[in-house]
Amino acid sequence: MSKRFTGSFTQQEPIPDDAIEAALRVLRSGRLHRYNVEQDEVAEAALLEQEFADLTGARYCLAVASGGYALTCALRALLPQPGDKVLTNAFTLAPVPGAIAAAGCVPVFVEVTDALVIDLEHLEAMIAQSGAKILMLSHMRGHICDMDRLMAICDSANVIVIEDCAHTMGGHWAGVVSGRHGRVACYSTQTYKHLNSGEGGLMISDDADLMARATILSGSYMLYERHLASPPSSAFDGIRLETPNCSGRMDNLRAAILRPQLRKLADQCAAWNARYHVVEDGLRNVPGLKVIERPEAEDFVGSSFQFLLPDFGPDAIAGLMARCLARGVELKWFGGAEPTAFTSRYTSWQYAPAQSLPQTDRVLDGLMDMRLPLTFSVVDCALIASIIREEVLAERS
Ligand SMILES: *Cc1c(COP(=O)(O)O)cnc(C)c1O
Repeated sequence: MSKRFTGSFTQQEPIPDDAIEAALRVLRSGRLHRYNVEQDEVAEAALLEQEFADLTGARYCLAVASGGYALTCALRALLPQPGDKVLTNAFTLAPVPGAIAAAGCVPVFVEVTDALVIDLEHLEAMIAQSGAKILMLSHMRGHICDMDRLMAICDSANVIVIEDCAHTMGGHWAGVVSGRHGRVACYSTQTYKHLNSGEGGLMISDDADLMARATILSGSYMLYERHLASPPSSAFDGIRLETPNCSGRMDNLRAAILRPQLRKLADQCAAWNARYHVVEDGLRNVPGLKVIERPEAEDFVGSSFQFLLPDFGPDAIAGLMARCLARGVELKWFGGAEPTAFTSRYTSWQYAPAQSLPQTDRVLDGLMDMRLPLTFSVVDCALIASIIREEVLAERS
């Protein structure tokens, strides 16, 4: 009898007890709205912002309703004109081009490489071709490109970088916190990311004007002085009446459950990487299967695992997915023509002008993906890798 895996790829860990206690305190107070505070009380949302700013070394931090909201808000705060082109990765999640569209801008996609990062040569070509002045850079599935080269390219072309760090919270490039290269960075605290508040987002930047606008946009009313990690009130003077309130605040309940989780982030990242490396070791040297080689400078967070089946073709991939699923291993495929669940590709985002990206098509056609929730043990991860290994070999024979 072949072994079967019985864990759930969508089951995250429970919310830790100290976070539940913090949530109960907020619930008992009734003051869930971030600006509903007693005399001298500091809101959980404001404390979370201060702690996240401290953790990342950013001057300012703003907590909002979701990662996608943070991306839209960051882009709007850069004051693009309606119809402006914004560059982004062709390989990313739907909320990224969605954020560009929500800000009234037009996504322009850049090719992905076999290492699953943005293609820097194509980026240079697309900067020149499109004239775009903003790049929304998505560190999709935690893969970080050569950030020194990327910033050199963008700086020399006066392209402002917004970093989408939904999968790199806790990661670094050459020792620099992921999110500290661009003008502004956005993180998600949605259930499947590195902190879990159901929904939620965080934005960091050192740019006082941008963060003042983002704070008003997020729905601060004229209560922005209740923030701890926001720019001085002088930064708001010129913009507070001309910036719309596009309500998208984080509440104290979610902030309360995030603060204890933030203190454990480094340990959680180490736990993800232990699992990642077990899967990686188990899938090395399987004929037909390519693991993604990670650069030395990339200190990533292995909360999900990707591999390539470059020569399989759609039928063999469908066969492999069915065989793995029958043994409890749920693989996702980025090559499907129709979007399924969370997985879609750039051709599915038809509100964006059509583009032909042959390199991205080739990579996505062979790209497999799975989550590695921390409810999996390292033993589970070894079993998952051995199941995939056996089924890849079986599918090829
Ligand atoms: C989840 C995710 C987002 C959006 O985050 P939400 O909090 O779900 O809005 C953005 N980019 C990437 C790459 C993501 O995975």
